[in-house]
Amino acid sequence: MKILVPVKRVVDYNVKVRVKADGTGVDIANAKMSMNPFDEIAVEEAVRLKEAGIASEVIVVSAGISNCQETLRTAMALGADRAILIETDAELQPLAVAKLLKAVCAKEQPQIVLCGKQAIDDDANQTGQMLAALMNWPQATFASKLVVAGGKATVTREIDGGLETIEIALPALVTSDLRLNEPRYATLPNIMKAKRKPLEIITPAALGVDVAPRLKTLTMAEPPKRAAGILVASVAELVAKLKNEAKVI
Ligand code: AMP
Repeated sequence: MKILVPVKRVVDYNVKVRVKADGTGVDIANAKMSMNPFDEIAVEEAVRLKEAGIASEVIVVSAGISNCQETLRTAMALGADRAILIETDAELQPLAVAKLLKAVCAKEQPQIVLCGKQAIDDDANQTGQMLAALMNWPQATFASKLVVAGGKATVTREIDGGLETIEIALPALVTSDLRLNEPRYATLPNIMKAKRKPLEIITPAALGVDVAPRLKTLTMAEPPKRAAGILVASVAELVAKLKNEAKVI
């Protein structure tokens, strides 16, 4: 059974991005880039399924610029067998990525596509769901536990106020939540080994996909700055301020 794991190259979670002065986007020139953390969790889960003898091959795929090769090499150092880069300089929105992944699924015929639940740059949380819809596959999003057996996946999902366990037939789409596992660190020997693993580079045109953006960002702005706090002298003053100034009681 093949598992396909889409991995996105995003601004590292430790970087605090700034909105560009003209409000057209965020400034990520020279920012440290890393694999989307939820995708790292997805790679780890797929590799564990391979180590357990359930999956036979783990393929990672990224859509984006040439530097995404680094992200794919990292994923292979974590245990993925081979990689596909769909190389493009175009701005990719979730629908375009879902269409690209659909074309890759048609070629690779995976039984499971294991995405991250969301990319921490745009926070869209759409690509997996859109891919499931395009493939007409069942989907289990926000997985915190995944058991694969007998042509089915049993997935425990993190939902508001608790957990939900569902069973879906394969092929299916699963998205990883934070608590699914704790990804391993890539060891030096595995980083070296990953350099020799196959990495295929294709283009959206070769997959017959039009990636033109369908949505236009009108403007982007920083959240309003918080006003400085003040010290009050007494509880009575605090209550008066909450009542008359903040108007919350
Ligand atoms: P999003 O819908 O943008 O929040 O992304 C959800 C998931 O879709 C990510 O965690 C990745 O697994 C996958 N994904 C999104 N964009 C890309 C991309 N450019 N290349 C590969 N995978 C992606």
